Amino acid sequence: MNTTFAPTAQTTAYVPVVERVETLIVDLPTIRPHKLSVVTMNGQTLMLVKVYCSDGVVGIGEGATIGGLAYGGESPETMKVAIDSYFAPVMIGQNAARVQALMARIGKMVKENRFAKSAVETALLDAQGKRLGLPVSELLGGRRRDRLAVAWTLASGDTAKDIAEAEKMLDLRRHRIFKLKIGAKSIREDIAHVAAIKRALGDRGAVRVDVNMAWSETEAAFGMAALADVGCELVEQPVSSAAALARLVRRFPVALMADESLTGPESAFEIARVQGADVFAIKIEQSGGLFNAQRVATIADAAGIGLYGGTMLEGAVSTAASAHLFATFANLQWGTELFGPLLLTEEILKTPLDYSDFELTVPTGPGLGIELDEERVAFFARDGLKKTR
Ligand SMILES: [Mg+2]
Repeated sequence: MNTTFAPTAQTTAYVPVVERVETLIVDLPTIRPHKLSVVTMNGQTLMLVKVYCSDGVVGIGEGATIGGLAYGGESPETMKVAIDSYFAPVMIGQNAARVQALMARIGKMVKENRFAKSAVETALLDAQGKRLGLPVSELLGGRRRDRLAVAWTLASGDTAKDIAEAEKMLDLRRHRIFKLKIGAKSIREDIAHVAAIKRALGDRGAVRVDVNMAWSETEAAFGMAALADVGCELVEQPVSSAAALARLVRRFPVALMADESLTGPESAFEIARVQGADVFAIKIEQSGGLFNAQRVATIADAAGIGLYGGTMLEGAVSTAASAHLFATFANLQWGTELFGPLLLTEEILKTPLDYSDFELTVPTGPGLGIELDEERVAFFARDGLKKTR
């Protein structure tokens, strides 16, 4: 019997393409000066990027750094220039739904610029989630949790003020994990500061420190032993070099976390290969985007390294993006520090993120599940919208 096959019906799926990319610098005040070993911040600057697609969907992303150029090679201003001049031209007209392919295309034209890539990838994922009616966490494989523990950073520079702030956070049931920024003063002063705070909080609050690379290896050896003695449970990036970190790990009864040393999957692999940390602080910007941060998490899991969801003191957009990603991690043993929006005096979302009972709720709406308050954003914008097309 002859069977006649009808030609396959030609269905041409609509391909949404990138039509326009806009960037914007927003300056927001902080609730108090934020003192780190590298810089004192009196405000935070966000670079917001909007990707307009031909199907009417607009994706939003954000890039933030700690203290402009004090933390690394990118600032909000350099991200804006990079996206306007180099990212946007290779994005226009491309399929907006193929996020990884578009990021690979950008990667051929832009070698470094991890923070700018994170902002653009966030916007593309937000757009794709809105397009499909799915939260970004579901696009990334599906969330494993809806709420994330959030640490608070005590960085007023004054011990009594820090204790009062910690007590307030405990009373509000906002935070019970406290990270202390140290390294700007002498080690003995810093240890006394940490000891006083841990003594005041007792078992009601966990105390961790971030040295932001301020110590030499010798200082770190002395400091970590003393910190373990006063009840500190984790030391973040006490020294700058990954090799020094690896020599310090497991010598003291306190966990050692890599932060600045982690610049994406390759550095994560190198640190894992030499068992150079107990914990990774994963940040979407530092990793070069959400997909790369996911790869860093996979490497950590494979190496038996614990995970902590880090922040670049981001505003609401990158905080939501990070929350979606961290919600998908198999292991998140050390919680997160996604408190960025709480350090700012101004709300830029129509509905603020929910911080309650010591946790942040991961938004459930399509994309990032957030909506910018455009009037507030325009009010705090530095230069107004820069249109690339
Ligand atoms: Mg850090």
